[in-house]
Amino acid sequence: MATKAGDNTKFLLDEKDIPTKWYNIQADFKTPLPPPLHPGTGQPIGPQDLAPLFPMELIKQEVSQERWIEIPDAIRDVYRLWRPTPLYRARRLEKALDTPARIYYKYEGVSPAGSHKPNTAVAQAYYNKKEKVARLTTETGAGQWGSALAIACSFFGLQCKVYMVKVSYQQKPYRRVLMETYGAQVVASPSADTQSGKKVLEADPNSPGSLGIAISEAVEDAATREDTKYSLGSVLNHVLMHQTVVGLEVRKQLEKADAEADILVGCIGGGSNFAGFSFPFLADKLAGKAKKLRVVAVEPSACPSLTKGKYVYDFGDTVGLTPLVKMYTLGHTFIPPSLHAGGLRYHGMAPLICKLYDEKVIEAIAVPQVATFHAAVQFARAEGILPAPEAAHAVRGVIDEALRCKNEGKRKTIVFNLCGHGHLDLSAYEAFLAGKLQDYEYPAEKVQEALKHLPKVKA
Ligand SMILES: *Cc1c(COP(=O)(O)O)cnc(C)c1O
Repeated sequence: MATKAGDNTKFLLDEKDIPTKWYNIQADFKTPLPPPLHPGTGQPIGPQDLAPLFPMELIKQEVSQERWIEIPDAIRDVYRLWRPTPLYRARRLEKALDTPARIYYKYEGVSPAGSHKPNTAVAQAYYNKKEKVARLTTETGAGQWGSALAIACSFFGLQCKVYMVKVSYQQKPYRRVLMETYGAQVVASPSADTQSGKKVLEADPNSPGSLGIAISEAVEDAATREDTKYSLGSVLNHVLMHQTVVGLEVRKQLEKADAEADILVGCIGGGSNFAGFSFPFLADKLAGKAKKLRVVAVEPSACPSLTKGKYVYDFGDTVGLTPLVKMYTLGHTFIPPSLHAGGLRYHGMAPLICKLYDEKVIEAIAVPQVATFHAAVQFARAEGILPAPEAAHAVRGVIDEALRCKNEGKRKTIVFNLCGHGHLDLSAYEAFLAGKLQDYEYPAEKVQEALKHLPKVKA
């Protein structure tokens, strides 16, 4: 039996502990984020350029330099359905690894969508509704984001159309059914519903689709309809900010556990779960405190944006409809290998994360997928929770750090974000257990080739 509070296995908070404000890391940057540029003129874009796509309140949040932004009560009321989420001490995993390290994980899989994504979906649906938008469009890869937005739209009475990457649409029918159950309309992308989709289909009728293509379709749909706006589940500043409820809760929970993090680990696709989890800790680091804290982003070696990409201006989508943003990119023409089952397939990365990586405030590593699934299975057998394949990248990173602690005889405290469960990703586990998954290291030459198609930007 636990005797001291710190001996517990889970660290829970009350509903009153749900954060009342989001943390905006831009307020603590010493130099501003490089501005997004207009794809036509190459000039920095203003709020009016974004107005066809986003409600004004979210555009304001995107560029805000305020450190704290109030969370409206209507959003906190929805958060109450699953927040605060638990923080666990992974005692059984520590034992299985025979490591002196202490491992904690924040579990976002308790949300109705099974991941962290509703934290921003709910906020985005709320602000759109408030500004009288009737319909939202979005893209989804594995379907995590699409299901989060479908739920949020159903809460706030909005229509929702989801462009789902074709290969996932075919391989993950249950995510589609989930989105449809919440009332969303789902089409396989590239689709014949948009000019962007038709263009891709003309060039390659068998295109498996990509997140970049699906973004082009969703953006075009929103830009060409008066009643519709667009919603993105990661990458943008305001999206990352909405996720900071995660890290803000973790800080309180670690206090309860009487623990202080030495290493923070998160998986990284567009950057939102990693940012939400780590940014509230980076505030100290940016202020010159917490110098020893290491913050590690883990990405798949099949889609290594931070570790192999280049820090340049690129399009957010494939067709070239979005603003140009400065980010680590594999090139907007990047199409992830179809045999990659682990998610995290976006060609770029959130500009906020890229700046922190460029300034060496955070670290990044890439891990191969077979070892990633090994880690996920080891975690599931020790702790019981089946990680989302994306989250499994963080688990791999954590197990490697814990084993290093064992070799070096160090008692570090490692905290990670288990950002979702894998109950709707069992086909990936099936492939792994049947020995059908292969590693794929995205070749440097392919990155070089894709970077030839980068848009030209004046220095
Ligand atoms: C969407 C998703 C990701 C990747 O997106 P980020 O913006 O990098 O967080 C990772 N894990 C899960 C469970 C997801 O649903």
